[in-house]
Amino acid sequence: MTAQRTHARTQVGIVGAGPAGLMLSHLLSLAGIESVVIETRTREDIEATIRAGILEQGTVDVMVSTGVGNRLLDTGSRHDGIEIRFGGESHRVDLASSAGRSVHLYPQHEVLRDLIAARLAADGDIRFSTSEVSLHGVTGTEPVIHFTDADGRPAELHCDLIAGCDGAQGTAKWSIPDSRRTDHFRAYPHGWFGILAEAPPSSKELIYAHSARGFALISSRTPAVQRMYFQCDPTEDADSWSDNQIWDELQSRVAGSGSPLNEGTIFQRGVIPMRSYVCDPMQHGRLFLAGDAAHTVPPTGAKGLNLAISDAVVLAQALERFFGTGHADLLEGYGRTAAQRVWRAQHFSWWMTSMLHLAPDTGDFDRHRQLAELDQITGSAAGRALLAEGYTGHPIAHTNPRSVVSEALRLTAGRRP
Ligand SMILES: Cc1cc2nc3c(=O)[nH]c(=O)nc-3n(C[C@H](O)[C@H](O)[C@H](O)COP(=O)(O)OP(=O)(O)OC[C@H]3O[C@@H](n4cnc5c(N)ncnc54)[C@H](O)[C@@H]3O)c2cc1C
Repeated sequence: MTAQRTHARTQVGIVGAGPAGLMLSHLLSLAGIESVVIETRTREDIEATIRAGILEQGTVDVMVSTGVGNRLLDTGSRHDGIEIRFGGESHRVDLASSAGRSVHLYPQHEVLRDLIAARLAADGDIRFSTSEVSLHGVTGTEPVIHFTDADGRPAELHCDLIAGCDGAQGTAKWSIPDSRRTDHFRAYPHGWFGILAEAPPSSKELIYAHSARGFALISSRTPAVQRMYFQCDPTEDADSWSDNQIWDELQSRVAGSGSPLNEGTIFQRGVIPMRSYVCDPMQHGRLFLAGDAAHTVPPTGAKGLNLAISDAVVLAQALERFFGTGHADLLEGYGRTAAQRVWRAQHFSWWMTSMLHLAPDTGDFDRHRQLAELDQITGSAAGRALLAEGYTGHPIAHTNPRSVVSEALRLTAGRRP
């Protein structure tokens, strides 16, 4: 016998409990708007998956001003600069003096822990471990999310609107018909070979290295866990490399002046592809896409997590106006507003990638041109300011000055950590 579908209703059905979906749910709850988050993974898996780690100033401001930033301020570390190595020399770009802003190192899974804890403390509704999630009626006035709950029971969630926050592999965007959707896509000819290692940090700040063997990034996740990447062929088999080969490759790419690279025990490895994607438009009927569901960036600019948060902020302001006043103007303009910042971040990520990576067709001319560009960017105040502005993040649109999030940000302005 087929089990009866359970029925529930909410104002905003959110698909995906990543940074975009959880931040949106958090901001909506502060504004008194109900939401239910539908997620396929377990809470344990979400809270343990190590991914991004660099939070732009705007992301930090949003977290702190809306009450989920205490652990970030206690255990995250503020970075006022980054190191760029090329031609065997180290060059520091001071973010704070060049752009008046900084970034924080605070792992993505810690952001998610904070958001999940805040939602559950406020009696928020997050359905973990669901399956067979599908969207229906997104062009009508009551779209529905079908899913199977954690106990295997089929369920329906009726909503006023749906936020598709289901990440790069999600399917929400396919609810926008092909005839209405343009997929702006670019694949890069390189991937990133990433490792997590138990080792002491090599430097107080991130190291971005350009070398004759290609790009490398030395980053950190906690004082005991370091995240490192080097450019590789996108089809590279990570398991075919011995630990010694990995360390030799990283060492050769960061060789030169500056702090030496500390080695340790590699406990995770993998190759991630490098892609740029923007779904245009980011909305259709009563479906609104946010975060990686709508766009992906190559990781060079550390923008993915931050864009997920800024989309959530823009969407929350529009939803607050919609539910508070009945006006749909901000909702109708959501995709256009969010896309402006998305394209700036796309440009920044593409620029950092093309300046620091060697493509298969990069010859001597291009390598010298890259070195000249790096020289100019690190060697002039204007160059450092350009890089610092993009790296610390462009401003997030304040479309609704009466919204809870705008008010919270205004109150914390001038009290920056
Ligand atoms: C290895 C790695 C390193 C990265 N490093 C950085 C970095 O240094 N800096 C940076 O800014 N970004 C980085 N990123 C990117 C960053 O992690 C993402 O941009 C960010 O997670 C996007 O958040 P999101 O909420 O849009 O999507 P996600 O975090 O992908 O969340 C989507 C959620 O939706 C769920 N889901 C998917 N399909 C369904 C469905 N059908 N139904 C219900 N739920 C569903 C998924 O399980 C997931 O929990 C990195 C990514 C990876 C993979």
